[in-house]
Amino acid sequence: MLYTIPDYYKEFSCIADKCEDTCCAGWQIVIDKDSIKKYKKTKGAFRKRMLHSVNWLQGTFRQDEEKRCTFLNENNLCDLYLSQGEDGFCKTCREYPRHTEEFEGVREITLSISCPEVARILMNLKEPVSFISYERDGEEEFDDFDPFLFSILEDARKEMISILQNRKIPISERVLLVLGMAHDMQGRMNRQELFDCMQVIEKYKTDKALCFVKKYLVKVNMKKNGMTFAHAMFCHLYQLELLKEDWGVLLLETENLLYKDEENYRKLQGEFAAYLQEDIEIHLEQLLVYFLFTYFPGAVYDGEIYAKAQLSVYCVFMIWELWMARWLKNEKTLDLEEMTELVYRFSREVEHSDLNLKTVERIMHKKWFLK
Ligand code: SF4
Repeated sequence: MLYTIPDYYKEFSCIADKCEDTCCAGWQIVIDKDSIKKYKKTKGAFRKRMLHSVNWLQGTFRQDEEKRCTFLNENNLCDLYLSQGEDGFCKTCREYPRHTEEFEGVREITLSISCPEVARILMNLKEPVSFISYERDGEEEFDDFDPFLFSILEDARKEMISILQNRKIPISERVLLVLGMAHDMQGRMNRQELFDCMQVIEKYKTDKALCFVKKYLVKVNMKKNGMTFAHAMFCHLYQLELLKEDWGVLLLETENLLYKDEENYRKLQGEFAAYLQEDIEIHLEQLLVYFLFTYFPGAVYDGEIYAKAQLSVYCVFMIWELWMARWLKNEKTLDLEEMTELVYRFSREVEHSDLNLKTVERIMHKKWFLK
C-alpha cells in the first residue's frame, strides 16, 4: 500500500485544553463498530457513565444542549481519555484531525484545517508544501476502480500543484491555468478521449497557455461584474446544513459588509489585496494546494474532474471573502490569528458534514469560473 502525507504532517500535535475550540463539540461523532463492541464491554466504575454517554441506536456519542460531547469536561478535556487512555478512543477520535482518502492500493492522508492547530501550521507555512510517499504492507482491490483514470488524475494533480506553486506568476493566473486544465480534461473525459488528457496536461505547461490566461483575465476585468458573481457564489453557503449557530451570523454579517455596490466592492478587493501584500499569495497557494490535494483525485469515482477543481477554488474564494469582510469590520486591519480562525471555521462547516461537502460538490457540477 502506498501512503502519501504532506511534509508538515509530523509538525502536528494536539494542544488539548489549550485549544481555543474543541473537536468534541458542534458535530456528531460517529463510533466505529469495533469501538461500540468494546464500549459495551466496559466494566467497573466507568460502566454507568459509558452506558449513558453513547447513543447505542445511532452509534454516536451523546451531546449536551450546547452540542458538546458528554465526555468533554469543563476543562475541555476528554473524560474517556482520562479514564481509559488512548485505547478508549474510537476510530474518529483517534484519527482526527487526520483525514484519509482511499483509493485502490493508495491512502492519502492529510491534516484537516478544521482543527485550529492544523490551520495555524498551514497559515504559517512559507515554503511550498511537498508530499512524501512511503510503502506499507497491505493491498486490496476495489470494485469498479479505474486505475488508468486514477493515474491520469494523479499526473494532472502533480502538474496543477506545480503550477499553483510557481511564484513567478500571479496567483490569479495560476488558478486559471489549473481551472483551464481541469476544464479541458473534463471535455476529453465526456467525449471518452481519456488518452488525450496527457496532451492537455502538457499544453498547460506552455507559454501559450499562460498567454491565453492573461488575455482571459483582461476580458473578465473589463466586464465589471465581480460583485454580482461573488455574491451569487457566497449565497450558495446558505444552502448548507448549519453546524454552529454563530456560523449563520458570520455569513449574514459578511454579506451585509461586502455586497453593496459593484464599484465599492472592486475598490475593496484592490485595497485588501494591497493591505496583505505578498503574504496573501502564499496563504492562497497553501490553501489551494490543500483543497486540490485532498479532493481532486476523488474524480476517479464520479468523473467530475472540473467540479473537483472548482470545489478547491470555490473554498479558497469564500475564505478570501470572509477575510475581506473581517478586515473591513476591523477598520481595515486583519491579523494572522483572525485569518486562521476564519479558515478553521469555514472548514468545520463545509468539510465536516458529508451532506455539506456533497452539496458544494453538486453545486460545482455547473460551470462557474470558466464559461
Ligand atoms: S481541534 Fe485539534 S488541537 Fe483542538 S483539541 Fe481537537 S485535535 Fe486538539
